[in-house]
Amino acid sequence: MEFIYDVVIVGGGPGGLCAGLYSARANLKTVLLEKLIPGGEIVNTAWVEDYPGFELIGGPELAKKMEDHARKFGLEIRTENVTEIYSEGNEKVVKTEENTYRAKAVIIATGGTPTKLGIPGELEYAGKGVSYCALCDGAFFKGEVIAVIGGGDSAVEEGTFLTKFGSKVYLIHRRDSFRAQKIIQQRAFANDKIEVIWNTAAEEIMGNGNKVSGVKLKNVQTGETKTLPVGAVFIFIGFVPNSNLFREPVNKDKLGYILTNDRMETNLPGIYAIGDVRAQLCKQVTNAVGDGTTAAVAAGKYIENLKDELTAAKV
Ligand code: NAP
Repeated sequence: MEFIYDVVIVGGGPGGLCAGLYSARANLKTVLLEKLIPGGEIVNTAWVEDYPGFELIGGPELAKKMEDHARKFGLEIRTENVTEIYSEGNEKVVKTEENTYRAKAVIIATGGTPTKLGIPGELEYAGKGVSYCALCDGAFFKGEVIAVIGGGDSAVEEGTFLTKFGSKVYLIHRRDSFRAQKIIQQRAFANDKIEVIWNTAAEEIMGNGNKVSGVKLKNVQTGETKTLPVGAVFIFIGFVPNSNLFREPVNKDKLGYILTNDRMETNLPGIYAIGDVRAQLCKQVTNAVGDGTTAAVAAGKYIENLKDELTAAKV
């Protein structure tokens, strides 16, 4: 079937939900398309303690509050998987597996996916000691021993950041040298709380059902295995932004993040990108909702201008 809206939002994380709230509240006919349940990454986050106004709230509860709030202003939310986005004149077309949506503006809030290790215990303990975000979760592990997996800029930099909280941080890398920039490595090597474990792969994350208690390691050269008692395992082995839905070429950085200006406009008129899918400094809920606000307001102004242009063309 085919549907017509003012604004289509692709992706139902905090950024998409906030964009939906602002867009629907501005009386724009708005639909949000999300392939899973609304909430994005915070649905997999046990606790959030850095969202202003909520000293400590469960991730799924915060997601539900955001969803209910946006629906209250008239946002429609549909569970559909978007397969392609393209322009036809001034109209944007969003194809899903089932339907076609036509809109004046599209807001991309598709986020991205941290690369998984794929070892036993990783999914089971996600949000219970396994994390992919030091800024989000580091403070939950004050005084604990922390393991960090990876050897790139993210692992070494975030590992150093985690020494603010952990009593000790093990950097565990599968080779005998980091690929991280030298200056980032130097900071880590100079930090007393960091110990590097080279040539070692994580094989399993263990716990008591509620929380991580250790990580099983294997030296890839000797084959020797051991269990390291830790309270948390942070995994930084890559992040892939979900930025490949466009038929037309959209400007991205070398890592695949969509480039926008400060109005969240991409190089494609009427198409906006917000949150983790766009190139920016942090991947935080607060950034995403700020982006969502800006994009919804900018999309509203863009639609107004379109109407003015169409009216002027008729006169
Ligand atoms: P990355 O540079 O791709 O590094 C990924 C690391 O994870 C590598 O050390 C890799 O090991 C390891 N790894 C990959 N798959 C693994 C697996 N299955 N098991 C164990 N280890 C695995 O990713 P990143 O660190 O997230 O950085 C991504 C990009 O962002 C890079 O271009 C980076 O420069 C940039 N970045 C920059 C900054 C900064 O400038 N401050 C901060 C963060 C990120 P190998 O080395 O053996 O391949």
